[in-house]
Amino acid sequence: MLRVAVVGSGPSGVYTAQNLVQLDSDVRVDVIDRLPCPYGLVRYGVAPDHEKIKSLQNNLRTVLEHERVRFLGAVRVGPGGLAAARLRQLYHAVVYCVGAATDRHLGIPGEDLPGSWSATEFVSWYSAHPDAADDGFLRDVRSAVVIGVGNVAVDVTRILARGPAELSPTDMPQAALRALAASRIGDIHMVGRRGPSQARFTTKELRELGGLPGAGLLVDPAELALDPGCADLSALPAARRRNVEVLRGWAQVPNEDAPRRIRLRFFLRPAELLADGGRVGAVRFERTEPDGRGGVRGTGQFEDVEAQLVLRSVGYRGVPLEGLPFDASSGTVPHLAGRVVRAGAVAPGEYVAGWIKRGPTGVIGTNRPCAKETVLSLLDDASALVRERPPRDPVAALRAEGAEPVEWSGWQAIERAEAALGASLGRGVVKLADWESLLAAARTAGASQAP
Ligand code: NAP
Repeated sequence: MLRVAVVGSGPSGVYTAQNLVQLDSDVRVDVIDRLPCPYGLVRYGVAPDHEKIKSLQNNLRTVLEHERVRFLGAVRVGPGGLAAARLRQLYHAVVYCVGAATDRHLGIPGEDLPGSWSATEFVSWYSAHPDAADDGFLRDVRSAVVIGVGNVAVDVTRILARGPAELSPTDMPQAALRALAASRIGDIHMVGRRGPSQARFTTKELRELGGLPGAGLLVDPAELALDPGCADLSALPAARRRNVEVLRGWAQVPNEDAPRRIRLRFFLRPAELLADGGRVGAVRFERTEPDGRGGVRGTGQFEDVEAQLVLRSVGYRGVPLEGLPFDASSGTVPHLAGRVVRAGAVAPGEYVAGWIKRGPTGVIGTNRPCAKETVLSLLDDASALVRERPPRDPVAALRAEGAEPVEWSGWQAIERAEAALGASLGRGVVKLADWESLLAAARTAGASQAP
């Protein structure tokens, strides 16, 4: 029997487990997560109002409930937890599917002023991540700036622009719902350093911004005109052409009178965050222009945009895992078809899949072929790995090392607690937002099973 540990229970981890059990009838998989809850960014990244994408959890659930798959939550791998080398001793193979856990930095003055956050921190807060801080993101905010024009920027812009009636049916934690409902934001500026034809958002996500009750879209026709890509739409790839068509439509309708205004801006490069009374008060942007090679250059002209809240949404970044090699330039673990490469040679028994393998790009479905490639490599190596090490019971060893895994019954108890919390608030399911409540809920499973 081949025993595999998959570290990370987001889409890449679950698709890895799925491929393993589908392609090998002798494999047993433990999916380990440092959180007591499964599903990674599907639970803690996909926006709460994107119910359809969230419902993907039902597919992931089927895999984690497979008879040869076991979920082991609240088990930390790395500093303060189980060392990678120890994990490698307990399993024939380990697949790291840990994603890209941090955000990229702008490297400009004022970036760390109070009121300036990475979009990831904001997303974690309204998604009830137990490590998220609740630091009054929206207090006294009249104008917000979102830096970047990818899908995460669209998500946070949309959540800022939505009203309580639209957010209440989601599983957003009560404190975030209350704060968003009380928000007095009038203007949300979403700002790209390059042109509209080079924005990274997808058209479906972009269009959604146009259908929000009480929110008007504003696009400056002069900024569309600056973009040579907009001059001849037939030369653009279809996805980008559709984006420009949507933006052009909005540029023709002035929406200044809407209660909330989403201002889509382009050719503005963040230069500095300016303080006002010890907090961020504005973002200074340098106007850019196309450099003829797909990039932009500065023009030496600056524009200050008022902002009591700045969300930096310029992409995720992988973090090094203690005990594994790491390529700092790409933020990924070096690999060959998913096999971890150490000092130029393949490290038997260690694999990667998902964002830590290929960087933080692509949609959830991109993880399927990515996980399959890794699993095929692993199964090719399987007979040598099984010969090398006798299988043992990893959970007994994990417990002996001080871990207290939350197993599937513990997660189901958390789900019941979240349904009960929602019912008590007159809402649907409402997520528990802190470690204590999650672990207390998980323990009720143990209590009900006790003899
Ligand atoms: P992204 O798509 O890589 O977008 C990053 C944005 O930040 C780009 O506009 C980029 O501009 C800008 N940027 C980077 N460095 C900058 C700097 N120093 N100054 C100013 N702007 C800068 O990243 P993301 O939005 O975090 O999304 C990550 C992945 O998750 C993507 O594949 C995305 O599609 C996916 N996702 C999908 C959904 C969905 O399907 N609903 C939702 C969320 C996320 P340049 O282009 O000029 O570099």
